[in-house]
Amino acid sequence: MIATENNATNKAIALENKYGAHNYHPLPVVLQKGEGVYVWDVEGKKYFDFLSAYSAVNQGHCHPKIIKALQEQASKLTLTSRAFFNDKLGNYEEYMSNYFGFDKILPMNTGAEAVETAIKLCRKYAYEKNGIAEDKAKIVVCENNFHGRTTTIISFSNDEEARRNFGPYTPGFEKIPYNDLEALELTLKNTENIAGFLVEPIQGEAGVYVPSEGYLQKAKALCEKYNVLFIADEVQTGIARTGKLLAVHHENVIPDILILGKALSGGVYPVSAVLADNNIMEVIKPGQHGSTFGGNPLAAAVAMAALEVITDENLAENAENLGNIFRRELQEFAKSNPIIKIVRGKGLLNAIVIDDTEDSSTAWDICIKLRDNGLLAKPTHGNIIRFAPPLVMNENQLYECLDIIKKTIQEF
Ligand SMILES: *Cc1c(COP(=O)(O)O)cnc(C)c1O
Repeated sequence: MIATENNATNKAIALENKYGAHNYHPLPVVLQKGEGVYVWDVEGKKYFDFLSAYSAVNQGHCHPKIIKALQEQASKLTLTSRAFFNDKLGNYEEYMSNYFGFDKILPMNTGAEAVETAIKLCRKYAYEKNGIAEDKAKIVVCENNFHGRTTTIISFSNDEEARRNFGPYTPGFEKIPYNDLEALELTLKNTENIAGFLVEPIQGEAGVYVPSEGYLQKAKALCEKYNVLFIADEVQTGIARTGKLLAVHHENVIPDILILGKALSGGVYPVSAVLADNNIMEVIKPGQHGSTFGGNPLAAAVAMAALEVITDENLAENAENLGNIFRRELQEFAKSNPIIKIVRGKGLLNAIVIDDTEDSSTAWDICIKLRDNGLLAKPTHGNIIRFAPPLVMNENQLYECLDIIKKTIQEF
């Protein structure tokens, strides 16, 4: 977009265009302030945030408790590196271990780093404890996955935009269709040297694909049967987003390796983590993996506050309740508005599929109109719009948002 007017919005957009790499295509709105479920742009216009920074801001923007923890810790000690101990990390690790029910945590910063960590952990475990011959380990992944942007992770993506001309790719991954237990069993049975199955409990970036009920539980059982690790990437679905603390909890599944990020810090600071029990985590020894910032005291203080907010404010329960209202209302609305083809999701991770082709601009145009009407959402894959507000929303606010969405869509 080229700035023509000399206002604050166009100035900010022009600066990003001129000096920033063009690796994103943002909706034209320039945000300046956030509080709870609201954000404000540089012109002072207020919006409901229905993206929550891809579910990183589950606790709402600038949650006072998290900001307080950040400020207190920031003025005391921010980074020691893991060359020395710090007085926050142990408390945080104990807190995380109890909160999620695993023996140990390995702290990292971004989601992609945590996925990389899980892949390394899975491979090392396969070689050292599962008798797989060196360099032979394979990890099963799903079509249309999204696990981040590193060279290894895009190696097993099938998003051509994300892959093209970034090769050569990392080998050692087997792709199967998502939500297909038969394909999983066939692969586990017929392919040698499988070390793990890496899966999103709901495929968020792909457009909020919710698998059939029982999929996760049966997939976990198959992994047990064939002695491979079940690795859940809950970077987007975790931390109360889908109406439970973890999306796997809907099916009472305990993954062998759990990957968290995004809302682990309430969107305040990059904090990610890999959790596993001792028999798995113990394969990583000093010098074999690490991160300068991973496990820093600022991250530890922020993440503990962010998780306390989830518990104190019953955000999982709230997401469950509001999600049910949201889908019920939109499904009802869709009956008389065929432009909405599908409404799907769990908790407050939802999407609508617009009845138009993937290369049409309808979903984008709807998002522009939603913006004009005071609600920010982003299209994905051309004709899907994801709706994922902060979980601190209340019922009145949700109905207000439903009115905006219905009113906007009726204009199309
Ligand atoms: C966002 C996301 C990641 C990557 O996280 P970054 O912090 O952007 O590296 C990984 N997995 C899933 C499921 C995600 O949604």
